[in-house]
Amino acid sequence: MIGAMREVIVAANWKMHTTPADAGELARTIAARTRVAGVVRVICPPYVSLAAVRDALAEDDPDVAVGAQNVHHELQGAYTGEIAAPMLAGLATWVIVGHSERRRDAGETDDLIGRKLGRAIDAGLRPILCVGEHLEDREARRQDAVVDAQLRGAFGALGALEGGDPAAIRAAGLVIAYEPVWAIGTGRNASGADATAMAGAIRSTLADLGHGPAADDIPILYGGSVTSVNIGEFFAEPAIDGALVGGASLKPDEMAGIVARAGVTAAARGAAG
Ligand code: PEP
Repeated sequence: MIGAMREVIVAANWKMHTTPADAGELARTIAARTRVAGVVRVICPPYVSLAAVRDALAEDDPDVAVGAQNVHHELQGAYTGEIAAPMLAGLATWVIVGHSERRRDAGETDDLIGRKLGRAIDAGLRPILCVGEHLEDREARRQDAVVDAQLRGAFGALGALEGGDPAAIRAAGLVIAYEPVWAIGTGRNASGADATAMAGAIRSTLADLGHGPAADDIPILYGGSVTSVNIGEFFAEPAIDGALVGGASLKPDEMAGIVARAGVTAAARGAAG
């Protein structure tokens, strides 16, 4: 039995691509090409395109959720250029937190990411928390320790906030994305076996962080150069519940292939459950 028959999720991270003028049309095209039973679909455009994507999907396919790519760790204040979680009301229902590109470019620490997670949960946003090791960590075989520390750092910071209770975190629909940094945007992906081993390590840390056996109910996505060609390797792994897709998520053909494969897993889980 796979957790409480965990959802199958494909989330698109458009990163710094699209404009409000073209994002709605791309979202509409992807939505139309990915209508597959049982798959939760999420599109995360840049902030400025959230409204365009929301409007396009509301008309065409309200089943596709809209997510933001980041959120600030404070509720309001003198933070030029930042967006607070409550400001996303009506624009997004999901949010990515702790993406490795933000850890790299904005110096985000686990503590800061934990506070973002708390703000997201308090605002009723469904969080996708990204974790993953660098190449040198994997080469030194310390990937599990790195990801364990990322999770403990983030959830430690979250513990101080209202949303820090494990049951509240699960009720918020927490999703973890395992994204080895060396696989993001490089065309080099981890193996299905690597992803499964890490999913086991993540669930064991989550169990230790107060989730106990319910850690099994938390969806874990793989991310890192996912394409319609390699997605099968990840969906063949029962521990993996979907994908966070970057580059390929801007290509409707790729998204169609990825979500079609996700649908096979969703159907199998539905039949088993
Ligand atoms: C990502 O942005 O989370 C990602 C995994 O990117 P890519 O698929 O391009 O490697």
